[in-house]
Amino acid sequence: MSQGTLYILSAPSGAGKSSLVSALLDQTDAIKVSVSHTTRAPRPGEKDGVNYNFVSVDQFKALIADNAFLEHAEVFGNFYGTSRLWLEDQLSQGIDIILEIDWQGAQQVRKLMPETAGIFILPPSREELQKRLDNRGQDSAEIIAGRMAEAISEMSHYNEYDYVIINDDFDQALAELKAVIIAQRQKLTCQQARHGKLLTDLLSENH
Ligand code: 5GP
Repeated sequence: MSQGTLYILSAPSGAGKSSLVSALLDQTDAIKVSVSHTTRAPRPGEKDGVNYNFVSVDQFKALIADNAFLEHAEVFGNFYGTSRLWLEDQLSQGIDIILEIDWQGAQQVRKLMPETAGIFILPPSREELQKRLDNRGQDSAEIIAGRMAEAISEMSHYNEYDYVIINDDFDQALAELKAVIIAQRQKLTCQQARHGKLLTDLLSENH
């Protein structure tokens, strides 16, 4: 059984990452997204165990002590971490996994598992990003400016990734994201692992 591919997907908030991932999962076989642990409070509509595993700071620290995380980071005042066991189990079953994590987590995972494919999603312009951050609710100008600063800080790491997708038109960005997954699945090492018998048969002298 071939090992699944681990994808790291990062983006500033407002780039449309979650919508792209959920559409990708609907349309693609054998790929799942890892549900992270976080100490931040759930937002309206978010479900425990679906969007995140919501835990207290003490629970989070206990998980770190148990070596339960592949990576963890503090992102804008809250802790986030990727559970190690589930991920390793899924990959060993040949399932591709997407980690929706920030640049700090991405750096840690790349060190541990150099075979990952990193994808960064960018908004089409500063103005559009500002608009998308404004549209999230009725927050003060100060809060929106803070979000913009966080987005710029995240975006400054785009060049650490293998693929960059600019989410201007949603369908186009989704097609590009799918193209990355499809191309990755045809890589030599993936095909050798998946189609070992076929490759042996095709080259056999005894036919
Ligand atoms: P949010 O709180 O808006 O859902 O996510 C804030 C940031 O934390 C995003 O950049 C998101 O990618 C990142 N994040 C979510 N889960 C994890 C995780 O498990 N590890 C790391 N390092 N970052 C995460």
